[in-house]
Amino acid sequence: MSNLPNVVPGTRAVEDLPHAHRCGARWSGANTSHCGACCRTFTGVEAFDRHRPDGVCTDPAALGMTLARDRAYDAWF
Ligand SMILES: [Zn+2]
Ligand SMILES: [Zn+2]
Repeated sequence: MSNLPNVVPGTRAVEDLPHAHRCGARWSGANTSHCGACCRTFTGVEAFDRHRPDGVCTDPAALGMTLARDRAYDAWF
């Protein structure tokens, strides 16, 4: 991992993101959480937990969450 070129944050191509799911979603960040059930991506475990208030995936927008748009992929927080 030490020979990766330096990339300006936010300019990285989506195809280069290190994590991917079979749904085609890609993301980066050690804390980013992707739900294997509803295939939404969250900025962290806390946000991930919040979209399952009763142990069931819930539309983040209905819970008052918003999409982070300051990254190369969509993530709820
Ligand atoms: Zn989910
Ligand atoms: Zn997925």
